[in-house]
Amino acid sequence: MASREEKTENLKKSLLDANNYNRPMICEECGGIMVFKGVGEYKCEDCGQVEYDDYGKVRNYIEKHSGATSAQVSEATGVTQKAIREMLKEERLEIAPTSNAFLICEICGKPIRSGRYCGRCEAAYHKEIEEKARAARNINMSGFGTEKSTGEEGSKRFTRER
Ligand SMILES: [Zn+2]
Ligand SMILES: [Zn+2]
Repeated sequence: MASREEKTENLKKSLLDANNYNRPMICEECGGIMVFKGVGEYKCEDCGQVEYDDYGKVRNYIEKHSGATSAQVSEATGVTQKAIREMLKEERLEIAPTSNAFLICEICGKPIRSGRYCGRCEAAYHKEIEEKARAARNINMSGFGTEKSTGEEGSKRFTRER
């Protein structure tokens, strides 16, 4: 039997795609669904725990420490320098609000200031991930429930006669 930790890891892996910057899917505290709040920030819909994806971590650090090198950012956030360079390459961290340059939403093609999607498409994209996480969690419910909901099932395993 896979442990709760293994199940959580497998679930995370099955939900991850290459471009979502280690988006938190499942609350580390209670197993709830992490709901997108904007700019790399996520909040557990059950307990309110706030977590950040890699982009959120890097962005927060750069806001407080402007001029930091990618090595310093990497050291402080635990995000690899390679991932930080990818973000810079995508210009997720470089386009200022006053810049004339604009990016295009990858889904609907609307001009945007930063990131890969416009606000509407990004919200829809995260909703979809949250739905997937919710569905996957329901399949694996016994692995993600709180102690009170798994206690009964767990005890049955030990009633087998010797
Ligand atoms: Zn939670
Ligand atoms: Zn869009």
